[in-house]
Amino acid sequence: MCRHLGYVGPPVRVGELMMRGPHSLYVQSWAPSEMRAGGTINADGFGAAWWRRSDVEGARDTVARYRNQAPIWTDPAVAEVLGHLESRSVIAAVRSATIGMPIERNACAPFTDEHWAFSHNGVVPDWRTILVAVLADLNEVFAAALPPATESSDRRALFSSPAVLLEAESLTDSAALWVLLRGLLAAITPEGPVTSPADALQLLVATVLRHQPTARLNLLLGNGVHLWATTCWHSLSVLVADDYTVLSSEPYDADPRWQPIADHQLITATPGHCTITELHALESPTTERARS
Ligand code: GLN
Repeated sequence: MCRHLGYVGPPVRVGELMMRGPHSLYVQSWAPSEMRAGGTINADGFGAAWWRRSDVEGARDTVARYRNQAPIWTDPAVAEVLGHLESRSVIAAVRSATIGMPIERNACAPFTDEHWAFSHNGVVPDWRTILVAVLADLNEVFAAALPPATESSDRRALFSSPAVLLEAESLTDSAALWVLLRGLLAAITPEGPVTSPADALQLLVATVLRHQPTARLNLLLGNGVHLWATTCWHSLSVLVADDYTVLSSEPYDADPRWQPIADHQLITATPGHCTITELHALESPTTERARS
């Protein structure tokens, strides 16, 4: 299965980070060591996202990315181009396509929006049916929480039609998950129902697991300043240094500060800090219906 990597801290060169250590993300593409069922190498493409600081005071950083459907070791741009770009945050991934899913550039993480970058390591079995059901649940969450016909109507409408899933840039579970997640991120407000990116990840994972308990959902999200991640089935380790933090499917070196993260956790990281809390399950729909 795919391997991913997130960094926040002082500026690093994107390509250097991807090739850093004897067990770098680059090496993990052909010699991963913790694949936990399914897949042997990550040769179905790769990608990296980095952020450009805005010249406007207070404005958010803008994300840029590079992706290629070819194996990472065939692309000299990793060293020759990405090796010269600097960023305070990076999200990078190498892909092992789930059987039946297309091998194309648009299917390679990171998926991005103006400010966000996202990677998914895992699979949602029967994703076409499951994610339509997840969308319907999210629609109910917003309809129940927001009054009708107010300025919040845009947020109410976010998940009102499954047609939104057609915006996925590739016919993969990961691209469709990104459509749902970026909708939740766009709907963040202090009043809720979604109040933070961590909240958005928690709601998405819990809703997918309610419909598909066998889903594997190691998600990684960044906005150039923070990283957020979940563990659900696959491996993830964290390295918290004085002034930077790295989240990685597998440690890239033997630094004793690497810590493996347990399953079913929600992680928030900033430079030099990381908080890890349990992911919560949602109650079953039948229990909720019985109560309402
Ligand atoms: N299911 C996703 C894809 O096919 C992610 C695969 C993975 O984690 N190996 O792109």
